[in-house]
Amino acid sequence: MNVALALPIELVTAIIDYALAAQDSLTNKASWDSVSPLSLASKIYRTLVLEAWFRVLLTKDPADVSFIASKFREIRSSWTRELFCKPQLLDGSQDLEVWDLTGFRRLHTVRVDCKSCSLARQFPFRSVPLSITELELLDVYWPSPFVMQGVADIFPALRTLKLRLPRIWCGLCNTCSSVRFAEPVPPKLVYSEGLGLPIHYARAMSHMQHLRTVHITVSYSSGTQIQFNANNPTEDLWSGECDRCVELLYGDKDFHDRWTARKKGIDSAGGKGERLYIKPPALATVEWTFLKNEVDETSDEEQEDYDDEE
Ligand SMILES: [Zn+2]
Repeated sequence: MNVALALPIELVTAIIDYALAAQDSLTNKASWDSVSPLSLASKIYRTLVLEAWFRVLLTKDPADVSFIASKFREIRSSWTRELFCKPQLLDGSQDLEVWDLTGFRRLHTVRVDCKSCSLARQFPFRSVPLSITELELLDVYWPSPFVMQGVADIFPALRTLKLRLPRIWCGLCNTCSSVRFAEPVPPKLVYSEGLGLPIHYARAMSHMQHLRTVHITVSYSSGTQIQFNANNPTEDLWSGECDRCVELLYGDKDFHDRWTARKKGIDSAGGKGERLYIKPPALATVEWTFLKNEVDETSDEEQEDYDDEE
């Protein structure tokens, strides 16, 4: 008697899940070698292994999806829950290849490696199912509010947004800037009640009805102008301001207090039309995580016009 075939399906599934647990932290995917021997044991085992293996679909090109889905139709209909992709520019063009997510009925998470693309011009997805509730953008070099507008327009059902950024948007100079902090730097800032995003981000995402949590991980270098209060690091409601703006503008206490009020959605300027923070209705938590840069980055900020008039 073949002992392997006598094992209950539930136990085999648990073994496969265990074998797939050794995952790459970036892609959330294990090596095929970790389950390959099991896939050879029987037809039933192979089906179980393939179903578990394609739970995370790792692709380099939209054509990969079409090709794999033509071999395994279950990828679109039931197997795949997470998609990791790395959009590239089309040959001879500034346009990105577009990922067609038609038919991915159980897909709930999309991770995008943005090293090779700018999402500011185009968000390269279509037919995005409403089952997608989590989006992670990795290494967005130019994280302007246009990117957040794309997120809001293309992924309206998101509950969780994760951003890993080498730079961040400063709402004072409308620029993407490297982050510089004076030590000591808290490992995290956690804001509640929907506060804590850059104002332009919050306004761009203000119509996202289901967004509950935003995690932003940024790299920082040593600076002198932005110093967190060790007893109350969230008191200034830091949310992306660059050290140059802090140096130039925070010495004016009236300006500082007015700006901090704007970041809470409070108009203290007597109706002068300054843009205020608009909280996405369900947003509860904004969490910033800070990682120290080993190499100090040179500054190469550019001014950007951003018109978020509704
Ligand atoms: Zn600035």
